[in-house]
Amino acid sequence: MFVVAGAGAAGLSAAYEIRRRGTDPIVVEAADRAGGKIGTDEQDGFLTERGPLALLDRTGDLARLCGELGLSRLYASSAAKERYVERDGTVYALPRGPGDFFRTGLLDGAEKLSLLAEPVRRRSPPDASVAHFFGRRLGKAGPFLGDAVQTGIYAGDPDSLEMASSFPQLFQLEQRHGSILRGLLAARGGKRTSLSSFRGGLRELVDALAKAVGPGLRLETRVLGIAKQGAGFRLQLEDRSGRGEMVADKLVIALPAPQAAEVLSGIAPRLAERLRALTAAPISLVHLAARTEDLGPMQRGFGVLRPGTPVVGALFPGALFPGRAPAGSVLISALVGGARHASVASRPDGELVELVRTELKMTAMPRLLRVVRWSHALPQYLRGHAGRIAEIEQLAAGYPGLELAGAFYRGVSVIDCLRDGARAASRLNP
Ligand SMILES: Cc1cc2nc3c(=O)[nH]c(=O)nc-3n(C[C@H](O)[C@H](O)[C@H](O)COP(=O)(O)OP(=O)(O)OC[C@H]3O[C@@H](n4cnc5c(N)ncnc54)[C@H](O)[C@@H]3O)c2cc1C
Repeated sequence: MFVVAGAGAAGLSAAYEIRRRGTDPIVVEAADRAGGKIGTDEQDGFLTERGPLALLDRTGDLARLCGELGLSRLYASSAAKERYVERDGTVYALPRGPGDFFRTGLLDGAEKLSLLAEPVRRRSPPDASVAHFFGRRLGKAGPFLGDAVQTGIYAGDPDSLEMASSFPQLFQLEQRHGSILRGLLAARGGKRTSLSSFRGGLRELVDALAKAVGPGLRLETRVLGIAKQGAGFRLQLEDRSGRGEMVADKLVIALPAPQAAEVLSGIAPRLAERLRALTAAPISLVHLAARTEDLGPMQRGFGVLRPGTPVVGALFPGALFPGRAPAGSVLISALVGGARHASVASRPDGELVELVRTELKMTAMPRLLRVVRWSHALPQYLRGHAGRIAEIEQLAAGYPGLELAGAFYRGVSVIDCLRDGARAASRLNP
């Protein structure tokens, strides 16, 4: 029996790949729906996402998967290129190309001047933090720009995040070419990538994968623990009818690392201990309805990044995709919390709304549509991450038939997780 624990992006993708290779898997998922962090809700004419809003397909993996699943993608409007960033209380358009960095009011004269030395600065050490990397490459403006870049993906602490693990492509570009600018120039003319979703939101992807996985998907079924059973594993499960067991020859654990640690603690205490060292930042996603006139011109764009503040960003999904908000209304999806303001994420709904209103300087009180709370929203690839993952992989190799997959290990985006799930499946079923 081939079992997958967890039906988020990684688990669904692992199960889909197993089925594609001719075996019917069982997928056990604690929640009453598949998708994990991915999910779409409808309310009063608004379409809101529970976590991710859009996917960036750099490799063509998503295009291939959508082709197989018969899904048609909805590409983001040109507003996706219009992004804003807040610095010391002022909102600026984010520079789009190298030339914009010298025209923007976001940087002062000394910061602009120090950008010029980027091509001649030394390469970063392999364990550089995000702040160190950007500081070295971009000079005086580096720490702020690096913070803005990481905020949009990790809502983390740039001094703690490991550059090579958090931004592997950018890090490799620098290592290969000795400069980001030279690397970007060399890559010019490469494939253009664009953000996409689906007309009904990202739920469409989950529904299509769940359908393709077939009858083996068991919702409201929680893994409580895992024991050894001959050459395989015995899973202790709990569902609505009570407790039970299931035997697996091959097992993909596609749970967030803290839960993976919990279920593995009996059978693999050292592996569980290493998994517990992997952390994630909490985010409360606050979906608000506002009138068009209550917000400034930034609502035309993708959203605003707010590095170092408790409202780490606000997105305007209606500017990217049609049908997200009724006419005359703006949907604001604000991300509150992150690694540097973790406790703010757990404030009550009313306080979150008030905070977002104040921080975004809205002229009228918005209407709360819903708050989605994630205690382990965005994994943090802290310095030493690459070493920790190598150790986890080595320890996991001591349990043949077992694979770990998901956002805590080798990439946090949905597409990274889809790829990681498929990787786990192909390793177990070559
Ligand atoms: C607010 C937010 C915004 C984001 N924005 C984007 C974006 O725009 N683009 C992008 O690409 N990525 C984005 N991400 C990241 C991306 O959505 C996630 O990293 C990815 O979806 C995680 O997938 P996963 O399969 O690793 O884990 P999860 O989605 O967490 O899935 C794990 C599953 O395991 C289940 N589970 C847990 N414990 C048990 C148990 N004991 N037994 C059985 N099942 C269990 C859970 O219920 C869950 O369904 C965002 C994330 C968040 C939180």
